[in-house]
Amino acid sequence: MSVSGTGTYEPGNIFARILRGEIPCNKVFENDYVLAFHDISPKAPVHVLIIPKKPYVSFIDFSKTASAEEIAAIMQATGHIAASLDLEESGYRVITNAGHNAGQEVPHFHLHLMGGKALPAFPG
Ligand code: 5GP
Repeated sequence: MSVSGTGTYEPGNIFARILRGEIPCNKVFENDYVLAFHDISPKAPVHVLIIPKKPYVSFIDFSKTASAEEIAAIMQATGHIAASLDLEESGYRVITNAGHNAGQEVPHFHLHLMGGKALPAFPG
């Protein structure tokens, strides 16, 4: 079920629980600002979720309230992960879903990194 991309951060969401170590994830990358892990229901051979460690609901929330260091960190981490998973030459897609019209399911801002095959024409 989709969620609103606005409103108060809900600390019980699944990514908050992953960040607190309450449920496991298949980790790809971690630093002070960012955690990245494989999507539990991958839509491509490579499907990694990249999330800030601090609580932001959506892209707008993140872009308005995150520090410059956090914003830089998620971009740098995403590029690093794409390269480290050998996606640079074959190609890849980075997207975020925000709110109902985009079908956001988890109300913690995240990027989807997908590749490993020819992806359907966007938006599919
Ligand atoms: P959204 O629709 O919010 O952009 O994407 C949420 C993503 O989180 C979905 O692709 C979904 O498969 C993934 N997801 C949901 N629950 C879990 C979980 O418990 N673990 C992992 N690794 N991914 C999850």
